[in-house]
Amino acid sequence: MDDDWICGRMGEDEPWMLGAVNPPVFENSLFTFATAGELGEAVRNEDERYVYWRGTNPTVDLAQRKLAALERGQRAKCFGSGMGAIAATISSLVKAGDHVLVLGAVYGPTTQFLRYLEKYGVTHTHVDDLQGCDSAITASTRLLYFESPSYMAYAVVDIARVAGWAREHGLVSVMDNTWSTPIFQKPLTLGVDLVVHSLSKYIGGHSDLVGGVVVGSTELIRPLALTEYQLYGAAMSPHDGAKVIKGLRTLPVRMAAHQERGTAVAAFLADHPAVRAVNYPGLPSHPGHAQALRQMSGFSSLFSLELDTESRDQVATFLDLLRHFRIGVSWGGFESLVNAPALSTEESVRATMGIPVGLVRLSVGLEPADTLIKDLGLALEGAGRLA
Ligand code: PLP
Repeated sequence: MDDDWICGRMGEDEPWMLGAVNPPVFENSLFTFATAGELGEAVRNEDERYVYWRGTNPTVDLAQRKLAALERGQRAKCFGSGMGAIAATISSLVKAGDHVLVLGAVYGPTTQFLRYLEKYGVTHTHVDDLQGCDSAITASTRLLYFESPSYMAYAVVDIARVAGWAREHGLVSVMDNTWSTPIFQKPLTLGVDLVVHSLSKYIGGHSDLVGGVVVGSTELIRPLALTEYQLYGAAMSPHDGAKVIKGLRTLPVRMAAHQERGTAVAAFLADHPAVRAVNYPGLPSHPGHAQALRQMSGFSSLFSLELDTESRDQVATFLDLLRHFRIGVSWGGFESLVNAPALSTEESVRATMGIPVGLVRLSVGLEPADTLIKDLGLALEGAGRLA
């Protein structure tokens, strides 16, 4: 199946759409049935039948079918946030006494959620590589969780090797694929069992949506849809389902533009004397570039750079001098954004995580690359002079 077709017409020629170019937003909290028997049957199969918005909705369902097809999975379930998808997925796979392996750096609240699970008797260990996995695995380990490229450091993981290792050891593997989107990377085809995404980033693309999704086999998604989805209540609304569909329409085009701009900006920074390092897997100088080319068909535009400074004030001055990069959290939208952990994270936490003071994260948006490069050049020069 072709990704462009999935993002566009797939599933949109059905009679219920009445020829509309955009799907109807089913804004009803419940569905009714001709008989009590039909209601009973629908409730028993609520992952597939329309009963109540907290469980299923036709507009959200279309978004799910497209996301499942893009990731080459059998089923997808959309949530009210990426964290909703991550929390429900992990919860569906573990019980008291179980252990989780976390490979490499992952999104902070994912680690926070794993810490939260300790009160229910679920433990976890962070490891750096497969050697670490070999040492940390126990008879109770059930799940291997990772991201590639990894959070903030953007290190590239050999996905097929890690997924193969998990399978050999009887573990379920879960990977966060938000950075690449399914346009540039399809972890299920490399052997990963479940893929999670924040839809709030590139897939939504317009910074007007918070959502999440998990994609995988029917065997793994069905129980989660019937239990954690219903009980946690982090359901996606039909309006957000329509926004996901709208985001998908332009995703392939936007990702090509993000790649072009991200690569140009990263290359400029890599050559700048005020920059110690640029962590962007799309640069040939990145240690994971060769592996990335083996498993990815492109690169998005979120990366970090290290300013040549130990001064938080100088980092703050750099951010303040930027005119086109707006200061804020999140990423993956049309607008360029900048953030710096030294300014938004507690000093002790930053130091424990080994994040340098000068680390700055850029989300390169859809503005022309030369505008963004000029902006960065002036801010680097100004921050250098003011220090
Ligand atoms: N995964 C990654 C890599 C993220 O960066 C984020 C949010 O920033 C999430 C998951 C969580 O997504 P959400 O904010 O939609 O809950």
